[in-house]
Amino acid sequence: MMDYSEKIEKSIALIREYEPYAEMACGYHVGFSGGKDSQCLLQLFKESGVKYRAFYNVTTNDPPANVDFIRKNYPEVEFLFPKLNFWQLMKKKKTIPTRLKRFCCSYFKERGGIFTALGVRREESLKRRDYPIIVLENRKEFDKTTYKGQRVRFYPIIEWTESEVWEFIESRNLPINPLYDTFGRVGCMLCPYANKRQIIYWFRKYPKLRTQFLKTISEMMDDGFMKKYPTATPDSVLEWWMSSQNANMFFNQTKLDF
Ligand code: SF4
Repeated sequence: MMDYSEKIEKSIALIREYEPYAEMACGYHVGFSGGKDSQCLLQLFKESGVKYRAFYNVTTNDPPANVDFIRKNYPEVEFLFPKLNFWQLMKKKKTIPTRLKRFCCSYFKERGGIFTALGVRREESLKRRDYPIIVLENRKEFDKTTYKGQRVRFYPIIEWTESEVWEFIESRNLPINPLYDTFGRVGCMLCPYANKRQIIYWFRKYPKLRTQFLKTISEMMDDGFMKKYPTATPDSVLEWWMSSQNANMFFNQTKLDF
């Protein structure tokens, strides 16, 4: 097992090793979210001395505190704006994102450059446990001898633990995103991964967010969304979404309560 300082050396060595291939594909594109893993990744890129550009994918559902944190502490990070905003995307997909249907992440967060480095770690989920360090976007193996500038996902800190990421942030005296104090996570305001308390926090802080969400749900319902549930109203649909329950269970239960 590698220790923490070996992991730093290995990540920097990997970043330097793949730079010539990144250059074949318009250079390194470093994905930056404002979260701890991307701070660690960006710092390693800085320390490796390679050429890169760092980007933040705007979701239009971004906590203003996160945007402020990035603009203040990482002015070199470029903002990429999507064609559709969060509400327009829901209407296009005719549904609300859930943990099982995270179409917003694919649309907003998985945009990127050609040779994209991301602060993904195996420890984060079972799905990521078998991720390689580098892979072609079509999930085919990366082969240095045949590489011709195709789209690539590169994960230089894949082997790091959460505790090592924090240790690195501390050792480099990097700023800590204030969202960790409030929520313990950095992510969109209206996210299927956020808990009810977090969503209520944002609704209280930005009441227009709730109004816009209800308006979008109502417009989607006019277009057939949730028609399986005749008792559903925009308010009860929002309540269901915040509950993270199965819709069948939630609406039957609501019916029984009447
Ligand atoms: S962080 Fe949450 S709301 Fe934002 S794009 Fe990903 S799943 Fe969607």
